[in-house]
Amino acid sequence: MVFRHQQRELVVQAEVGAAIVADYVASHPKSAEHHARATRRFPSGVTHDGRHLDPFQLCVTHAHGPHKWDADGHRYIDLVTGHGSLILGHGHPEVTRAVSDQLVKGTHLGGSHELELEWAERVCAIVPGAEQVRFVSSGSEAIMLAVRLARTFTGRVKLVQFRGHFHGWSDTAVGAAGETGVPAVLSGTGEVIECGDEEAVVRSLADELAAALIIETSHPNFNSLPDPGAFLRFVRDETERRGTLLIVDEVVSGFRWAPGGAQEKHGVHGDLTTLAKILAGGLPGGAITGRADVISVLSFDPSERGGRPKVKHPGTYNANPLSSSAGIACLNLVADPAIQRRATEAASGIRAGMNAALRHAGIPGCVYGEASMFRIVLGGDEVPPADDMRAPLPGAPIEREGMPGDVAQALLLSMLMEGVALFGGRGITSIAHGAGEVREIVSAFEVTLDRLGLA
Ligand code: PLP
Repeated sequence: MVFRHQQRELVVQAEVGAAIVADYVASHPKSAEHHARATRRFPSGVTHDGRHLDPFQLCVTHAHGPHKWDADGHRYIDLVTGHGSLILGHGHPEVTRAVSDQLVKGTHLGGSHELELEWAERVCAIVPGAEQVRFVSSGSEAIMLAVRLARTFTGRVKLVQFRGHFHGWSDTAVGAAGETGVPAVLSGTGEVIECGDEEAVVRSLADELAAALIIETSHPNFNSLPDPGAFLRFVRDETERRGTLLIVDEVVSGFRWAPGGAQEKHGVHGDLTTLAKILAGGLPGGAITGRADVISVLSFDPSERGGRPKVKHPGTYNANPLSSSAGIACLNLVADPAIQRRATEAASGIRAGMNAALRHAGIPGCVYGEASMFRIVLGGDEVPPADDMRAPLPGAPIEREGMPGDVAQALLLSMLMEGVALFGGRGITSIAHGAGEVREIVSAFEVTLDRLGLA
């Protein structure tokens, strides 16, 4: 069922690419200096693979609202938005106030506290099917814990997941796919199938050995399926029929697709939900939530565990008071669907404006996405249609190849020089991105297309 788009390869002429790099280097001397120092301490000079950029990343000094600034004094419209954690924009006053109030009361209380409970109560009020909660420090940790709970609860081992869906970097998440440094023996603990392939789902669950099926509702990393709702409902029914737990990874879509994430939007409840990013208002934090009977395998009371062994779960920074205070302030705001509507409006304007620019320039490609996110693909065999689209070919599940490396590099560098910081070939908006920012982003894209001289 996966459709690979016929690519018409676009080329940036070597001298154009070299001139863009030279301009970038010349206009960012302090970032270059920072990079030279950073490469002595960090492999490739970065602390997150997604921040790597050739010839070097920006050294960012501060951020506010929709903007961030670099060490050379340039201002950018930020479309990384804290890797998707800042739907309220940088430095929202209510989040900032909550964190600074807590800062003086203690950054680690070494015990239970009121804020963690309030934070969990907010989660349960907003997220569909959330009965109990366990806080962790990141999305990767949330997935590790969810899978461990599912394996303990069901007494089964197999984890079914979809090719290309991202669930963090733990051995648990990447074991079946096989990654450098992960013991090959873990490949036997799971199965990777194609998203959108209903027959593969039926086949992989038929042996009734699967503890859990996990799905990334941001599909995957910002949208590749035209109708994830129908597929999500299908996997819900199939997992239920086979006694397999459905883990819905809402690390990205949670509080962004709707207050209650993709599950609210599509009317589907998983057995467990993994959360992070917006959950903690831009501070480190994650959580699992969902069915109390499943989460109860963390309980010290054997009767609550239904005879199952206890899952151990420590974690120094679980529900730390700073993240709790930011999370409460953020969730209080994002419970109002006007927040998701505003952020979506910005992304929708960007998608439509960029597609119009591609059409106008006669360049094949598309800018697509759902909710407050978008992905730019340059190349392919068509110019984009007129509307703000979710995927380029309605009705067909699609997997997009990335852009050729030289095109992507020229695009990112040129957009930076036009004052727009993309997140790879993608962007994430917040309520701080208004109509003015949308106009600036689209016009930066128009200038960039012209400069790239794609043929
Ligand atoms: N799941 C999804 C869908 C993600 O996009 C990410 C990170 O971007 C993760 C899990 C991992 O979260 P973290 O980076 O907080 O470990």
